[in-house]
Formats: sequence, structure tokens, C-alpha cells
Amino acid sequence: MRTLTSLFSHSRPTLHLSYKRFPPIRSLSTLPNLPLFQAIKNHNESNPAVVHSASTRSFTYGNLVADILQQKEKLAQTAGDGVKGERIAFLAENSYDYVVMLLSILASNAIALPLSPSFPTGELKYIMNNSRAKVLLSTEKFENKATQIVEAGLEREPRIEVMKKILKGGSVENLEFEDLKDQAGGMMLYTSGTTSRPKGVLISQSALTAQAASLLKAWKYSPQDRLLHLLPLHHIHGTVNAILTPIVAGSSIEFMYPFNPDAVWNRLAAPFTGEQKEKITFLTAVPTIYNRLMSTFSDLPQETQTAAKEAISPQNLRLNISGSAALPTPTKQKWTDLSGGNILLERYGMTEVGMAISCGLDPKDRVDGSVGWPLPSVETRLVDTTTNEVIRPGDEVDADGRERDGEIQLRGPTIFTEYWNNPSATAEAFVPGDDGKGNWFKTGDIATRRLVPSAGKGESGSWATGMMYFIQGRKSVDIIKTGGEKVSALEVERELLSLPQINEAAVVGVPSEKWGQKVVAIVVLNDEVANKTGKGGKPWNALNMRRDLQDRVAPYKIPHEMKVVKEIPKNAMGKG
Ligand code: AMP
Repeated sequence: MRTLTSLFSHSRPTLHLSYKRFPPIRSLSTLPNLPLFQAIKNHNESNPAVVHSASTRSFTYGNLVADILQQKEKLAQTAGDGVKGERIAFLAENSYDYVVMLLSILASNAIALPLSPSFPTGELKYIMNNSRAKVLLSTEKFENKATQIVEAGLEREPRIEVMKKILKGGSVENLEFEDLKDQAGGMMLYTSGTTSRPKGVLISQSALTAQAASLLKAWKYSPQDRLLHLLPLHHIHGTVNAILTPIVAGSSIEFMYPFNPDAVWNRLAAPFTGEQKEKITFLTAVPTIYNRLMSTFSDLPQETQTAAKEAISPQNLRLNISGSAALPTPTKQKWTDLSGGNILLERYGMTEVGMAISCGLDPKDRVDGSVGWPLPSVETRLVDTTTNEVIRPGDEVDADGRERDGEIQLRGPTIFTEYWNNPSATAEAFVPGDDGKGNWFKTGDIATRRLVPSAGKGESGSWATGMMYFIQGRKSVDIIKTGGEKVSALEVERELLSLPQINEAAVVGVPSEKWGQKVVAIVVLNDEVANKTGKGGKPWNALNMRRDLQDRVAPYKIPHEMKVVKEIPKNAMGKG
């Protein structure tokens, strides 16, 4: 395969392949006058911002300011004629480099578009084409992947930059903040929904600021916190909850990815087995991660088990949060038992809105089965799914004494701007308010609301009072949540139907203890093709299906199981 260098060395004068060691930045440097950058500048320069868990390399807030500035300059050079409001895609491992890329794009008043390195080229090509990204940044590790994307032929050929080395360690002498005349920056994340292809969710800089401010108030991140980061970085959970907000707070983020339960247990245990490591105070993960941690715990050596229990006890692990999918009460209970009383704090959120509803810091405010109260600055209402009426406070129970459920609708400064280049999907996602105070975003999630006498007394803050929300499910069976990842049944059906072995396909989410939901494909085969296209001339089977989809969709979208049927009855499982 050709490399980016050979691809572009003649035709692209803007290709930058390496960083030189820059001297300290003495010239006047500017960052936008935004709360995010003000906060970074005000943190103790020597406090670690990012730590690479495996190598223990550590990068301070002082390094971060200098490196954002350097990378911002580089980006301006690469782009040539400005990046304001442009999509800047980037491929980076979970690392300091990722954080610098993300923040330097935001500092350039551009839109940061993190690409998942685990996605096959076809899916990344779709994202590049859909977003019309102007620049594609990559770390050295993903240079080949970036090359493959570009070689796949993009509608808008991006400028490319491979970051060989970020400076890591400059200092800034003359930093100034400048007001942005026209805020056009933000972040764009691709999310699946009820349409067959993922949509680009544009989250403006001001929405990111509001989301971080809201979480900071509710969960009280602090400079003393060390967050163990186990999540992918193309989602709201891994980016806003676990990078931007801790950075605004001055906390330290320790990257440990991909998730490996043994490695996590060893890391958590380390400070309590005499190793010179900071203790982890903050963990945020999906229920599948907590389940996997607990299912491997008994295989650990006795000494590690004892130390790990101490590590996750309430005295040491200040906060353990679960979200992105329903937290089963047995999982929550098991964690409390294992940790000697630490209660998982459940919250509810979505790519389009950041975090919306959360339980509180006070242990009494972490009620089983509830996702809590609307977070600071988030306005929430329930709309009856049958009558389409807003369920007003006090009307939560119908005339027959039954609890009414409704769609969660949200508004406020944390909500996304639009689905990129998709005005009809954007228009469909919002409904006008009847009070003239703006549109409501329709989440598609169904909930009930009620008072819980033992909770909501204000101990977790004034926002965590009144009625609590209980998620009941989703309006559409076509949205599946597996291991915290959102999957569109329609998208997987479309990919299955593109295989010559399949005549008909329906994809459903089936309850699973491990995954929350498993992706299951029900298919009618084209026997003529299927009978002879398996490995070694054998009939084509589920394993072959999984392999055939590998190059087409992200790994988590590939059905766990395939059931072959003679026909798919219309409206089986609510679809068909
Ligand atoms: P995503 O945009 O990938 O973060 O997925 C958002 C969706 O995940 C929501 O619309 C919900 O359906 C689901 N979700 C997030 N948090 C929870 C939770 N605590 N309980 C149940 N479902 C959740």
C-alpha cells in the first residue's frame, strides 16, 4: 500500500509529516476567550492533565496549553485557507495526542470530528463524505488507516497531516485570549438512529460548554480527581463526561484502552499493593464494563482481590458512574457488595443532548431503577405517547390509577444544533414549545416520573429534588443498545441484504445479561448462493456472515447471532 507520503508528496504541498522540537513559545499566542481555555490556563501548570496508564507517561496542564497552541498553528498551515466552521476529522489512539487534537481544533473555531480507529474503511469513508471534512489528522499509528480512507476515493479530498510527534513540554510566555466574533466551532459525533445510516450530530462549542458546566455542578469533578478512562473516544460519554469536563475541572485523566478487565483490576489495586501509583477516584463506564469487571474478579490472585476491593470502596473511589444503557439492579447490587458500599450513580444521556438526567452524589439519591433528576440547565418534560399530551406535574397517574408514561423531551443550552446536512431529520427531531421558549428535542425514550420519599431532599444540590425519572424503554424497536453502543436495526438489515446469500432480513435486540441487548439477525437465505459459499464449499453460516460484514460496519454492529427461517412474518416482534 502507498503511504500518505507517497500519495501526496508531489501534489500536496500542505502535507506535514513531522514535528520539530519547538523552543518555548515567546511570541504572542492566542486562544479563544472561551470557558474551556480559560479553565485550562488557570489550572496548576504542573498538575497532570493526561496520563498514559501502561507507560505511566504524564502530561501536565502546562504542556497542554503549549501543545494546543502548537497544534493550532500546524492545523492552520495544513488547512491553508482557514478552518472556521470546517470539519476536521482525526484518527488517534486514546492518548494525550487525541486530547491535543480535539482541543486544538476547538481552539481553531473548527468542528472536531473524531473517527473511531476500530471502524472499517467503508464506514469511515461514509463519515468523511457525509461530513465533507476539510482536513484529516492522524497519529503515526493510524497513518495506514488514513491512507486507506483517502485511497477509497472521497468526494472532497481532505488535506492530510500525520502527527509524528507533538511537542509535549513547551511553555507559553505570552498567552492572550481573544473574543471570537463568530463562534463556529464544536464537535461532531456520528450516531445511529431510526434512519438506516448514521447521522452527524453537531454539538456547538456553547453546548459543549453548557454540558461540561452542568456535569461539573452535579458531579463536582475536582483537581484532586483521577479518572480512569476506559471508553471509546467517538462518543459523548468518552469525550464530554470523561475528557472535556475533567479538563475544565483540572482533574487528571488516565487512559487505559482497550478495556481489559484484568488490567483494570490490577491498575485499581496497584496503590494498595504498595506500587507508587495515584489512586483512582473517578470511574465512568457502561453497565457491560461493570459486569465484565465483576465476572472476572474471582479469577484474580487473593492479594489483588483484597487491594482491588479497597480501591473501589467509597473511601477511595469517590465516584462510580454508570450510563449509556439501563443499569440492571443486580449489577448495581453486586457492585455495592463487592466495594463495601459504593453505589453506582446512574445517569441518562444521548449524543444529541449530552447528559440530561442524573442521580445525585448523595448515596440516598441513587435510587434503583431511576436515572434521577434533570441535570442543571436541562429542561425536561414527558409527552404521553398515546394522547400526545404533555404530562403536567401532578398528572403522572391516570384516572384508573395507572402511571402514565411518556416520551422524554428536552431543551436548554446543552442540546445539539442539528443533524449535519440533514434538515429534514433535524426538523423531525424537534417539536415547537407552546410557551414561545423554544423547541423541544424528542429523545425517543419513554419514561415515567414519580416522587421517591427517601430521595430528592436537596442533599445532592437543588437540581436533584422533586420527581425522579424512570426509563421504561424506547419508542422504536429499531434502536438497539448493545454494550452501551447504539445500533440501528435498519442499518444492519441494509448491510445484510447487500450480501448475496441473504434474501430477507430483520434485525432485533434481544435481552442479554452481558450486553444489555444482543444484536440478532433473522434471515431468509438465498439457498442457491448460500449452499455453496461457506468456507470450503460448505453452506454459508453465522460465522461467514460475521466475517463478510467485518469490512462494512463497525464491529459492534455485526449481529451476535443469526437465525435462519423460511419466511419472516410481517410484524413479527413489531417489525418485518
Ligand atoms: P448514545 O447517543 O449512543 O449515547 O445513546 C443514547 C441512548 O442510550 C438513549 O437515547 C437511551 O436510549 C440510552 N440510554 C442512555 N443512558 C441510559 C440509561 N441510564 N438507561 C437506559 N437507557 C439509556
